[in-house]
Amino acid sequence: MANPLRSLLAAALTALVLHGSVLSSAAADGKEQRFDIVATTGMIADALKQVGGDRVSVTALMGPGVDPHTYRQTRSDIAAMTKAKAVFWHGLYLEAQLEDFLKDLSKRKTVVALAEHIPKDQLLSHPEYKGRYDPHVWMDPRLWKSVVLAARDALTALDPAGAETFKAGAERHLADIDTLATYADATLKSVPEGVRVLLTAHDAFNYFGRAFGYEVLGIQGISTESEAGLSRIESLVRTIVERKIGAIFVETSVSDRNVKALIEGAAAKGHTVIIGGELYSDAMGAPGTYEGTYIGMIDHNVTAIARALGGDAPEKGLNDKLASLQSRSKL
Ligand code: ZN
Repeated sequence: MANPLRSLLAAALTALVLHGSVLSSAAADGKEQRFDIVATTGMIADALKQVGGDRVSVTALMGPGVDPHTYRQTRSDIAAMTKAKAVFWHGLYLEAQLEDFLKDLSKRKTVVALAEHIPKDQLLSHPEYKGRYDPHVWMDPRLWKSVVLAARDALTALDPAGAETFKAGAERHLADIDTLATYADATLKSVPEGVRVLLTAHDAFNYFGRAFGYEVLGIQGISTESEAGLSRIESLVRTIVERKIGAIFVETSVSDRNVKALIEGAAAKGHTVIIGGELYSDAMGAPGTYEGTYIGMIDHNVTAIARALGGDAPEKGLNDKLASLQSRSKL
C-alpha cells in the first residue's frame, strides 16, 4: 500500500517542480508576466500603456466619442474589471456615474484614481461644481505629468519586478510631453493676442486656457448633462460679434446643436464665424491612430486651434502625423 502511494506522491511532486520551472523560465523572458489592467478613459489607458510597455495589457472602457461625465458601466465592463489585476480611473468626479461602483470595487482589489495625485493647489475649482475640482486636467500637458508619475508608482507597487521598465517608460513619455508643451507654447502664442479666445461646446478647456493664456468660453456648463440656456447663447453671440472671433470649435464627445445656434446667431448680426475644427475634449481619437494617443490628441487640438485663429502651425502638427484637420463643415 505504501509503495504505490509514495510513487504517486513523488510523481506529483516532480510535476509540480517541473511546472514551477516552466513558469519561472517563462517569467525570465518577461512575456508571461504581462498582467491585465482596466482603465476608464482613453487618456488614463494611454498613460498606463506608455509607462507599462510590454508588462501590461490595458483595456479602456470608454472609446472615441464617449462622454465620461455620463458613462455607466456595462455588463462586459464589470466582467473586465472583475478579472483585471487592477482598475485605474481618472477621479476628480469625472466619471460621476461610475464612482459608487469603483469605490465599492476598491474594497476587493487595487483601484487607483490617477488624477487625484495631482497636487490640489494646481487644480482649478468650478462654480458649477461646489466643493469639487474641474476634472479636465489632461488639457494642460505639464499637469498631466503628475498622472504619468502616479501611473509609474502604482504599476511599480503592483509589479515591483517591473520597476526599471516603468521608470524608463515614464521618463520617455515625460520627455515627449515636455516637447509637446514647448510646441504648444510657441504655436498658441503665434495667434494674435486679441483673438486668443477659445469658444467650445462645454467647459473642458479651462486648464488649457490657464496653461497657454487663452480666454475660454464654454457654451454648456462643465458637465454635458446641463443644457445651455437661451440667454447664455445670446450673450455668447454678442461676444463673438464684438470681439470679431473668427472660429469656434466643436467637440468629438458633445453634440453640435449649440455651436450651430451660435453660428446662426452671429450670421443674423452680420458676422461670419466658422467652425475651426473638431477638438478632442473628453475622449481621444480611434485606437491605433495618432489622435488615439494622448500626445496626438493634444497635438491635434493645439494645431487646429492655432491654425483656425490665424496662428502659425504646421498642417500635420508637431510630429508630422496628424490626419486632416478639416472641420465638420456640415452640421
Ligand atoms: Zn468634460
